[in-house]
Amino acid sequence: MAREVDLLVVGAGPAGCTAARVAAEQGLQVLVVERRATVGLPVQCAEYVPAQIVAYVPLPEGCIAQPIRALRTHLSTGETVETPAPGYVLHRALFDKTLAVAARRAGAEIWTSARAVERTPRGVLVRRGSDLEEVVPRILIGADGPLSTVGRWVGQVNADLIDALQVEVVLPPSLAEDGGRECTHICFDPVYRGGYGWLFPKGETANVGVGVNRKMGGDPSHALAHLLDRLHIRPGDILGRTGGPVPSGGPVAHIRVGEVLLVGDAAGHTHPVTGAGIFAAIVGGTLAGQAAARAVRTGDLRALEEYEREWDAFMGGPLRHALKKRRYLDAHWSDDPIALSAAVRRTWIAFREYGRPEG
Ligand SMILES: Cc1cc2nc3c(=O)[nH]c(=O)nc-3n(C[C@H](O)[C@H](O)[C@H](O)COP(=O)(O)OP(=O)(O)OC[C@H]3O[C@@H](n4cnc5c(N)ncnc54)[C@H](O)[C@@H]3O)c2cc1C
Repeated sequence: MAREVDLLVVGAGPAGCTAARVAAEQGLQVLVVERRATVGLPVQCAEYVPAQIVAYVPLPEGCIAQPIRALRTHLSTGETVETPAPGYVLHRALFDKTLAVAARRAGAEIWTSARAVERTPRGVLVRRGSDLEEVVPRILIGADGPLSTVGRWVGQVNADLIDALQVEVVLPPSLAEDGGRECTHICFDPVYRGGYGWLFPKGETANVGVGVNRKMGGDPSHALAHLLDRLHIRPGDILGRTGGPVPSGGPVAHIRVGEVLLVGDAAGHTHPVTGAGIFAAIVGGTLAGQAAARAVRTGDLRALEEYEREWDAFMGGPLRHALKKRRYLDAHWSDDPIALSAAVRRTWIAFREYGRPEG
């Protein structure tokens, strides 16, 4: 027999758990399905969030690995620029689990090892082990990440993706000098085609990775080897590996299609220049959960349109601006370190030129 709910959320990442919590707090009967066996694992993230996230979600102390004071941008010319960037490197697995706990405490039900596999005329088929169960929701939220299945069902997919590869390493001793371990580090180089390299300190370890655009000839393994060499990190320093796709083409055309809402990476809400998506996932999840609650309470699905409008009012402008900068940087990518630095100065968030409307 089919299971009927007010709201089905596919994906128990930050976007899905936030939407589920908000909707459940307002009395909706909410089910979250998560294909992974354990919420939050494996971690596919460099784990930095800006300090302003605490205005949107509680950040228990235990979820914070360390505070961050500034961003250091290392240009391909060898120049380094420091700009304030207060924030935190998280214990991301614990952060995601905390959000899931809050959703559950608010009344949402969470199924792990449960994959949304097919859309039916009435709802969604969910596979749990060898069982297939039909869930019939009034509203469906796709919070299922960059390669969203729900997005595919409604014809809204992320066309542009950056390929990211990351290692966890023992913190390089050189970072202890001149306050480097209180900063996130971003490195540009012609080899990191259409992207950049990063080092985010995390206590005694660091997340070191690269994101590149394969369509521009980027090779993640080659780029990562280049970055590790540049940072004097040896194979014996590596404690773990991860990676994954990051949307870089801005929001999909429609984040609401009928009674389906897309949030977080599934909606393409990741910042096209920085690749950051946790903050947007929390904000989007909040707005989508509120819209779903209004629609169910009033019995009027047109309330879902407010999600599109509210999202656009809050983040639409900055994301469109970032996308313009992304396209300019891609179009002016250069193998010449000086020319590349000039393009980065016009398009990277650390520079005043980022705020200018042109290229
Ligand atoms: C290497 C790397 C480093 C990054 N570093 C940062 C960073 O430092 N700061 C930052 O802000 N962002 C970073 N990001 C981006 C950030 O991780 C995402 O933007 C964020 O996780 C988006 O949250 P979400 O809830 O939308 O999606 P996700 O966290 O991807 O959650 C989606 C969930 O849906 C589940 N799912 C997928 N399909 C199905 C299905 N069919 N049925 C059931 N469940 C399903 C998945 O298992 C997953 O748990 C990074 C990304 C990568 C790959």
